Amino acid sequence: MPELPEVEVLRRDLESRLPKPARISRIHFFAPKLRTPLQLPTALEKASWDVLAIGRRSKFLIFETNHGILISHLGMSGYWRVEAALNLIKHDHVVLQWKSGEFWVYNDPRRFGVFEFYPSIDKVKWFSRLGPEPFTDEFMSDAVVRSMRSSGRAIKSIIMDAQVMVGVGNIYASEALFRAGINPFKSGRKVPYKKMDELRRVIRTTLLNAIKGGGSSIRDYVHAGGEKGRFQDKHLVYGREGKSCVKCGTIIQSRKCQGRSTFWCRVCQS
Ligand SMILES: [Zn+2]
Repeated sequence: MPELPEVEVLRRDLESRLPKPARISRIHFFAPKLRTPLQLPTALEKASWDVLAIGRRSKFLIFETNHGILISHLGMSGYWRVEAALNLIKHDHVVLQWKSGEFWVYNDPRRFGVFEFYPSIDKVKWFSRLGPEPFTDEFMSDAVVRSMRSSGRAIKSIIMDAQVMVGVGNIYASEALFRAGINPFKSGRKVPYKKMDELRRVIRTTLLNAIKGGGSSIRDYVHAGGEKGRFQDKHLVYGREGKSCVKCGTIIQSRKCQGRSTFWCRVCQS
């Protein structure tokens, strides 16, 4: 499943590939639904769309258009590809046909993705309870550290809770906790303020580095052009169970935290 850095890399990639003019002459659906129904308001079914920008909120791409917004979530197995001529393959469900002659095709074998229209961003039900984005000023406020410390849950569960902050998926949670030296199973209440503040900064840096590195390439994720991300080569603990800690040489452990694989060093993280 792609995490926030992969989606941000994809966003930048797609934005750089926007045709000039950035006009979609028709949106085609080849399935009744993904995670939610694939449908447009009747008045817009045959409309052309001017794409003004491609944004992102959490792991949703946001196509800002003259009619409103189109949001795209890749779910478990979705990806976008860019084609000069349309060659439909199995599991292609959405096609953006550009006036330039290009096609942007959304493929999703497991259909957990989302592609929806909303008249404006404040109407998007998925965004109503999301916490701050890691690259905003809001993320650096005291309120974020206070909310991280207000729960007795395992710190790893807290930072993966989208209501506390968005963008920390399973891989980056293990990576950030290792870098901050905090045991993933420690209660949020027991992490001192300074340590928590450091974790918050490390989360931001870890995600930024992942974006610079092109995102992780675990499972089905590929860039719009088919190029694989490279961040997985730089994981310090994730997927390294039984191997030596890069800092101290102790064997890296693995255990489930809320059903998700969690990796840590018992010496470096307390
Ligand atoms: Zn260690």
